[in-house]
Amino acid sequence: MSLIQDLVIAYRVLAEHGVIDAYGHVSVRSDRDPSRYLLARHIAPEFVRESDIIEYDLDSNPLDAGDRLSVRERYIHGEIYKSRPEVMCVVHNHSPSVIPFSTTREPMRPIFHMSAFVGQGVPNFEIRDAQTGTDLLVKTPYLGAALAKTLGGHPAALMRGHGCVTVGETIARAVGRSIYLESNARMQLQAMLIAGPGGKVDFMHDDEVAASAPRQEYDRGWHLWRTRVLARMAQEDNALLDEAGGPPPQHF
Ligand code: MN
Repeated sequence: MSLIQDLVIAYRVLAEHGVIDAYGHVSVRSDRDPSRYLLARHIAPEFVRESDIIEYDLDSNPLDAGDRLSVRERYIHGEIYKSRPEVMCVVHNHSPSVIPFSTTREPMRPIFHMSAFVGQGVPNFEIRDAQTGTDLLVKTPYLGAALAKTLGGHPAALMRGHGCVTVGETIARAVGRSIYLESNARMQLQAMLIAGPGGKVDFMHDDEVAASAPRQEYDRGWHLWRTRVLARMAQEDNALLDEAGGPPPQHF
């Protein structure tokens, strides 16, 4: 399978996990040219097909868009790829359990081993520190660069009142981090409610994070999620075939 095909699958995996809804996007750095990245056009993630993928330079200028409309927040991706040469995949989403943490002074902390990367630090991007009076969207290179600066070398960053970004050296890693950041937020809230005000929650310790996070690739998860998506796409094709009485469309 090609990188574009895995990118299409990543969109659907994230949608199936409720991490991206009608909005949110995922990109990959080009495997042919590290100064290019691939991102879907302005379309709901569950509808993304190979023909929806547009190539961009790192200033987020589309190179082969034709009449396809680009997402306005593409600068998130371009500016992070500029500042993080090792990053191959960037996810931006409006993960519902994560957003409350972006609006409080309560930091996200690693509640369980699958989200050990949270212990490497998840800073919060306050857009007002860069520009006041925005609609909270990262629609300019300037705001994208400010977000990339807040992200620094971390695996993820929250975006106050908006969502978050997660990054990885592989698609599996960035997608896995998005899915488990959402789980972590939900479980951290639950643990804090059980503990009550001022109660103690035992988060992962720094030495445990160091022993876990660097090796966390989410390869087994990615294999499962990807297999499910491919099965569902085949089912969709069969349904279309029954309806139309013709051959199924070729996705890949
Ligand atoms: Mn957004």
